[in-house]
Amino acid sequence: MFTLYRSYWEPLMIISILGLMTGCASDPKDLKSPAIAQRPAYTGLRIEQGPVSVGSEPRKGKVTALILHYTASPLPAALDVLQGHKETHRVGVHYIVTDELLPRVIQLVPETMSAFHAGKSGWRNLEGMNQHSIGIEIINLDGNVHPYSVAQTEVLFTLCADIIRRHQIKPTEVLGHSDISVGRKIDPGSLFPWAKLASLGVGAWPLRDEVAQYLQGPVKIKPEEVRQLLAAYGYRIEPGEAGLKSAVEAFQRHFRTKKVDGIIDPETIATLEALVRRYRPQTLRALRIKP
Ligand SMILES: [Zn+2]
Repeated sequence: MFTLYRSYWEPLMIISILGLMTGCASDPKDLKSPAIAQRPAYTGLRIEQGPVSVGSEPRKGKVTALILHYTASPLPAALDVLQGHKETHRVGVHYIVTDELLPRVIQLVPETMSAFHAGKSGWRNLEGMNQHSIGIEIINLDGNVHPYSVAQTEVLFTLCADIIRRHQIKPTEVLGHSDISVGRKIDPGSLFPWAKLASLGVGAWPLRDEVAQYLQGPVKIKPEEVRQLLAAYGYRIEPGEAGLKSAVEAFQRHFRTKKVDGIIDPETIATLEALVRRYRPQTLRALRIKP
């Protein structure tokens, strides 16, 4: 039974032991592969080398972001598509996290390459996030409907923590596809365990007390100030009301998941203010919102 996980180390140890027992990815020649050699052994992370994806190109810049997705398809179909052989839809990704009882991490593109996982995208002053990010696809048919398993979350945490440490990625740059392709994408979905991962040190999250504090105060903020706050945090927002609504919805899908409707309500504002206060305090001062 695998229901007694008390920490992420336990399933990883089981994975390691199973790997040794079955010979799965424990062939000594695997140890020479660059993907594994880059990692110190203490993370306990095992990464299988999958089929190499041609949905990639040489990297031109520094990795500053980590982008999370769900596949919307089961593993065999995802593995097929993400090898990038379809000329009209050439896609690729660095890692796939499977949805098996003991989830596996499969690598398709080396981190030294840029993978085609984000498409049209932007965050802060960056356009085209493929060149600036590592991408992880998680097997889930719809992360707005189907929860991510505890085991998947634990493996994901270990993988993300390792990538963040090696590339020095800031909490505010651990993002969903929906954050960087506003109005176009809805993955990894409102059921993605952002709060859990943030509590373990992966990604950004507002402090609960500060959200409560902002919620108690009067709501004085105007829609255009919400736009400014969202933009200052990193969201790329199209002009007009529809553009703002899409950005609010993307924000809610990540940070206020119980109601994702694009409507600016007091809790959404309080969550946004608390988030900006924690990670971009200079923005609040510029807008003269009391930090
Ligand atoms: Zn995606």
